[in-house]
Amino acid sequence: MILKETCMHAATCETAKGLVSGGIAPIDLVSEVNSYGLASILLAKCLGCNQAFKFDTSPRLESGNFDVNVRALWGTLITGNGLSHLNELLAVLDSPGLSRKSFLDIEIKNKQLVESIPTG
Ligand SMILES: [Zn+2]
Repeated sequence: MILKETCMHAATCETAKGLVSGGIAPIDLVSEVNSYGLASILLAKCLGCNQAFKFDTSPRLESGNFDVNVRALWGTLITGNGLSHLNELLAVLDSPGLSRKSFLDIEIKNKQLVESIPTG
């Protein structure tokens, strides 16, 4: 949705269109606003008019957790591992890990999903 909004802006913003005709890409990725485990919130701006666009790198679930973090927790638990194993793997991949607080929050808020994991 935000990608569509950004593209539509670039196609309709008069100053952005002027940049494009000069060979300059009108949308620039400015910064990472925040990160939550494996998910990030990124900020992009129109170089023509400075309108800002925030992007989540992963959709949020009804639980409020980012989908990628829930999947990471689920994959960790279903393989019989825990937070330490997940964070070791993520560190090798040069990726941020999940805090204990986030891991527990995801586990509690997605209890039904966690309980669907077969044991033994
Ligand atoms: Zn603009």
